[in-house]
Amino acid sequence: MTPILEQVINEIPKSKLITSQNYEGANLVLYTKSRDFFKEGKTDIRKLVDKFKKRIDLRADSSLLIDQKSAEDYVRKSVPKSADITQITFEPARSLMIIDARNPNDVIGSKGSTAKDIKRKTFWTPEIRRDSIVKSKITNLIRTTLHEDSTERRKFLNEVGKRIYEFNRSRKKSEMWVRISCLGAAQQVGRSAFLLQTPESNILIDCGINPASNSEEAYPRINLPEFSIPDLDAVVISHAHIDHCGFLPYLFKYGYNGPVYCTAPTRDIMAMSQLDMTFIALAQGQKNIFDSTDVKKVVKNTISLKYGEVTDITPDVRLTLHNAGHILGSAMCHFNVGDGFHNFLYSGDYKVVDTRILNGASHVFPRVETFMTESTYGNPERTSPDRAISEAEFQKYAEKIIKRKGKLLIPVLGVGRAQEIMILIEELFRKKKIKDIPVYVDGMVYDITAIHTAYPEFLSDTLRDQIYAGKSPFEAEFFKQVGSYKEREKIIQGGPCIIIATSGMLVGGPSVQYLSKLNDDPKNGIAFVVYQFKNSPGDKLQKGERRIVLENQQLDVKMEVASFSLSGHAVFGELMDYMTKLKPRPRKVLTVHGEKSMTINLAREIHKKFRIETLSPKPVDCLRLR
Ligand SMILES: [Zn+2]
Repeated sequence: MTPILEQVINEIPKSKLITSQNYEGANLVLYTKSRDFFKEGKTDIRKLVDKFKKRIDLRADSSLLIDQKSAEDYVRKSVPKSADITQITFEPARSLMIIDARNPNDVIGSKGSTAKDIKRKTFWTPEIRRDSIVKSKITNLIRTTLHEDSTERRKFLNEVGKRIYEFNRSRKKSEMWVRISCLGAAQQVGRSAFLLQTPESNILIDCGINPASNSEEAYPRINLPEFSIPDLDAVVISHAHIDHCGFLPYLFKYGYNGPVYCTAPTRDIMAMSQLDMTFIALAQGQKNIFDSTDVKKVVKNTISLKYGEVTDITPDVRLTLHNAGHILGSAMCHFNVGDGFHNFLYSGDYKVVDTRILNGASHVFPRVETFMTESTYGNPERTSPDRAISEAEFQKYAEKIIKRKGKLLIPVLGVGRAQEIMILIEELFRKKKIKDIPVYVDGMVYDITAIHTAYPEFLSDTLRDQIYAGKSPFEAEFFKQVGSYKEREKIIQGGPCIIIATSGMLVGGPSVQYLSKLNDDPKNGIAFVVYQFKNSPGDKLQKGERRIVLENQQLDVKMEVASFSLSGHAVFGELMDYMTKLKPRPRKVLTVHGEKSMTINLAREIHKKFRIETLSPKPVDCLRLR
């Protein structure tokens, strides 16, 4: 069969006007040398889109492009100042001009008029993105990395497309089957990694580590016979927590060079979290399993998707990401295998109810036969109190520590609870429910907060509207950025304050530095707000132990310790509610991402209530889905 790209070209009446063409993943891009066709060819292209049901872009051949300096000058002159353009990057090999602005709508113009003008005058195709309101050098660095070698990027995207459209591993459609192998997160939390296979595809879903382990057990079992890096077609990442993506750069280090699919905020936060792993290892005098060059490769090979955007990722698998309500950019991953042969939904981590920063998880899908769900809180004993009660308890605790002139340390994962707690504190201060004091937001947490302001469309309706209206709560004056060891020392010596710092489980990072220094003063307190992995120092403290080991040093904890239930995971009642809401109801449910008792219990409860087949897969299990 003629490849789709050729079929498209043959359909164009003036096909001679097309000078080159290639794939960009599942999309098709045509380049033309004709000024007129570039300006007027839209109707022809639209007809092709309707016929082939693929996204087709028409761009100018590089010979038409005006020089970068003039193009940039034109943009800066023609776009109103209110757009607040922060950077303009060019991808010459793809005829793309990427414009980052704080008010992207002002670059687009009414009904796209300004963007259209830019295209007609400069021949560059503008890609307009929202930049963060809170300044962060690292987010810009990540976005620039993506575009720094456009020849490479064009080649890479073309290879991905060829793999989807022009390469068949097995041509016998009658032999269709689907199976899933658990490389991690089976009857445990940590190292999430699942291999989805069909005769045509090898897709890795998530690629995490177990941050609470420092042995081989920390990594997914990539030594299983069915897994091989050279045969891997695609990696899909549900969200940016390192137990879901912390092992990914290692795959690149050992030869993987294919695509990584996730949302744009996941790409940005993931890169930051992976870099942070290398920094922490360095600070502890250890060698990490990968370095920053491998993280760079991950960024360069990422293809970002919006929620609801359907895309082919292999010849027989179509992927759609949906809101999971867990952290910024977190996704439930829906796989349509073999054009409706089997529909598999992987939940990733999710939250059913709305939180301060995110809307609850999506629950309506076109079809679902197998649902693989997380089970972190898969036991009825793990029902947490109402969020409002937890927040009131947190308020009381913070008040008490502020009153006695102490310092309150909140260890967090960089993303998720950190931003939720910031929004909560901002509200308590703004409504004068507690006296405002400085809130130090350490290192990575600050940069990740900045990323939140760049993707308001991924946030809860309320927060999104606040950011659109220029009233981002993250910009309140009592939030202060901290980065260096020296600055931390100053805070430790200084007056009452709240400190939000990574890591959430006290396994390295600035939270460990703060704890060991603040520990001697009983006025100080620590508040846990995130899930603690089994046997981590945080887990031990939560369970009442007071002698813990922090970065190889024993510490007797004298500070007050408290925990608040503000989890980003669905608690037991929510998991069951979700099964009721989920449309359509799946035929089979696989429970993963929970300690053994949780996954087994959840499987049992769902079976009892909904009378559907359930299973809690064991480590290294390989299951035929159909
Ligand atoms: Zn998570």
